[in-house]
Amino acid sequence: MVADLLGRPLVKLQQPVRSGASPAEITNAVAGLVADVLATAGVDRKRVLGLGLATPGPIDQTLGALVGPPQLMGWTRVPLKDMLAEATGLPVTLDNDATAAAIGECWAGAGRGVADFAYFFFGAGVGGGLILDNQVYRGGSMNAAEFGHQSVQPDGPECYCGNRGCLESLISPKALVAATGLADYDAVRQAAADGDPAAVEVVEAAGAHLATAVVNVANILDIDLVVLGGHGLRHLETRFRDATAKALATRPLARSIRTVRVEVSPLGADAAVVGAAALVLHTTYSPQVSELLSL
Ligand SMILES: [Zn+2]
Repeated sequence: MVADLLGRPLVKLQQPVRSGASPAEITNAVAGLVADVLATAGVDRKRVLGLGLATPGPIDQTLGALVGPPQLMGWTRVPLKDMLAEATGLPVTLDNDATAAAIGECWAGAGRGVADFAYFFFGAGVGGGLILDNQVYRGGSMNAAEFGHQSVQPDGPECYCGNRGCLESLISPKALVAATGLADYDAVRQAAADGDPAAVEVVEAAGAHLATAVVNVANILDIDLVVLGGHGLRHLETRFRDATAKALATRPLARSIRTVRVEVSPLGADAAVVGAAALVLHTTYSPQVSELLSL
C-alpha cells in the first residue's frame, strides 16, 4: 500500500503467496509488488520515505529478523529487513503485525489523540500493541503486549508457548472452530451472526475470556481506551465489544474514577497494512508524533 503523510491509503495491491514459500521467494514477490504499487500510484521511488513491513512475530529488532513465527513454518531466523532493503533500495522498517496495527490506530484510527491505549489484534492468533504516553511501548526484548498469552484459565489447554490456558489458545479461530465442530472460521462467525445458539454460546464464552484479559490489562496499565481490531474480528465485533465494555464498566479497580472505553477499529481488515505504512511515519517523525497529531 502507498500511503500519504497522514497515513491515508492511496493505492493498495495484494497478491497471495503459496503456502511454504521460502524467504527468498517472498522477498522477490514483495519487491515486485512494491514496484507495481508505486507505478500504479505514479509515485517516484525517490520520494518514498521508506518501506514498512508488518509480519507475524516474534521479531529480533537488533537483527531485523523474524524468529520462528508459528504461522511461517521453517522461517527460523530470517533477516528480512536487510533482504528487502537490498531488493527494493528502500529503507525498511519491520515490526510485528499487532504493533504495526496499533501504530496505525494512532495515525489514522480509533487511537488518534489518545495518549494511552491497548490494542487487541485478532488474526490467526491474538496479538497486541501498547501505546503509552503517545509512544509505542516495546518492552525489554521488543516483544511487549502479547495479550494473547496471558493465562485466563490456569487449568486450561496447553499453549504452544509453554503456558497453560492462554487467551489465544481459548479464543483463536482454530479454537472456536474446534469448539463448535463447524467446518471453518467463516462458518463459525456466520453461524454466530445468524444467532445459531451453539455458535453464540461458544462466541460468548470466548468474549468472556477476552473480557477477563482486557480487565487485567486495564488494571495493570491504567489505559484510557481498548481498541479491538484485525481481520479475525469480522462478524464478532459486536459480541466481543459488548462483553468487553460490560467488564470494563464493572470490574477494574479504578472504574469509579473513569470508565475505560472500548472501540472497534475503524480500519477493518486494513489495520496491519495501514500500520505498516504508519511504521515509517512513526520511525521518521517520532517522538514528535503527539505534536504532529495535535496540529
Ligand atoms: Zn500461550
